[in-house]
Amino acid sequence: MIRRFKGGRLVIASHNAGKVREIGELLAPFGTEVVSAATLGLPEPEETGETFAANAELKARAAALAAGLPALADDSGLAVDALDGAPGIFSARWAGEAKDFAAAMAKVNDALGDNADRRAGFVCVLALAWPDGHCETFEGFVGGEIVWPPRGSNGFGYDPVFLPTGGTLTFGEMDPGAKHAISHRADAFAKLVAGCFGKG
Ligand code: IMP
Repeated sequence: MIRRFKGGRLVIASHNAGKVREIGELLAPFGTEVVSAATLGLPEPEETGETFAANAELKARAAALAAGLPALADDSGLAVDALDGAPGIFSARWAGEAKDFAAAMAKVNDALGDNADRRAGFVCVLALAWPDGHCETFEGFVGGEIVWPPRGSNGFGYDPVFLPTGGTLTFGEMDPGAKHAISHRADAFAKLVAGCFGKG
């Protein structure tokens, strides 16, 4: 049985103000008042997990325990088939301290070399944890392929080299609304809402 969120305050276990605002807007229709981990002065735990789910869970659990409120966290990244799922949970770290995603995209392309298999996917895991330790996770995915050179300047991270399956525009070339309609994050959110927030 999936545990449902009963309304009231929800901690967003992220220090990214943009992410917190977007999640607040998405969950507003469900009577959810969101408060960020940064606002509550919660520390950011180290992402020591070996999977997206483990990292999302550890962030959500730490925030729920520290705040005494339910908490939502996400962990996401790019997984390239021919690279055994790399950069995966290291997607942000491949860009280094300087958050240089031009370099990170080049690293992906260099690692692929002349490999004809350029399949890849973006993964997003959302974890909703309660102060008693209960946790629900939802995984979203969008499949596609890596293109080179990068195309477009919309979005962020690896968007300019990701061409979703069946599309002609990279995530970097698409309008934000078009990306959000099919993205891994939208997929995970739809599952979260259906499981924990929707009517039922
Ligand atoms: P997180 O916020 O720590 O989960 O980091 C996820 C990393 O994965 C980001 O820094 C990006 O490098 C990459 N990533 C996740 N989602 C997307 C996306 O929608 N577009 C491009 N890159 C993404």
